[in-house]
Amino acid sequence: MKILNNFTRTVNVPEQGIKLEGEEPSIRDKYKDDIERVLISKGCLKKRVEHLASEVAGAFEKVREVNCLVVLKGGMFFASDLIRLIDDETELRTRIDFIQASSYYNKSTPSGSVKLKESGLLKGENILLIEDIVDTGGTLKKLQDYLKEKGKFFKTCVLLDKGLPKSPGLKIDFIGFNIPNEFVAGYGLDYAGMYRGMPEIVIVKKELLK
Ligand code: 5GP
Ligand code: MG
Repeated sequence: MKILNNFTRTVNVPEQGIKLEGEEPSIRDKYKDDIERVLISKGCLKKRVEHLASEVAGAFEKVREVNCLVVLKGGMFFASDLIRLIDDETELRTRIDFIQASSYYNKSTPSGSVKLKESGLLKGENILLIEDIVDTGGTLKKLQDYLKEKGKFFKTCVLLDKGLPKSPGLKIDFIGFNIPNEFVAGYGLDYAGMYRGMPEIVIVKKELLK
């Protein structure tokens, strides 16, 4: 896999955002009233996810398989890109399953409680938990405690980290980007069900958030 050097470690995203040289990300007219700006461009997401795929492959190399447990719904596009790269470009065999954790209930602030809904959880070991974003870490902690209870070996991969103080005992093995503490959407992440289909990570206008 050919990877740009500055994407070979967790990327710190500055307040004004990041893009690749030559990329000019702009908000489509239909979203102009809702979106403040692009925080992470399509190209940057692609490069970093490529590198995450090789980091994950390194960690699962010995066991030769990775059972991907995707946290719905925000992790959908991240997981789909990551897993296809792992399968296409490494020696690992993959399985995919999903788990749903609801913590935001359509709002932009945490509700404090996390509900889990599994769909025939993977039976095997060697689980890669794939999540879109970690804020306080409450959601991930709940998921990790659940996997620990079941005695599974797992690693955790998160696309975005807001860098806030985390729930004690939380362990994140792979992080895509450290981002500022703003409410973001796009690339699978929503606000009230919208913006998941946007190919970049964007900042939603503050006046829109309730
Ligand atoms: P935590 O439990 O770590 O405080 O919150 C994590 C969950 O809240 C994530 O899985 C995600 O669903 C949601 N979340 C946290 N921050 C954001 C954000 O900036 N945008 C969106 N769309 N969801 C967020
Ligand atoms: Mg999530």
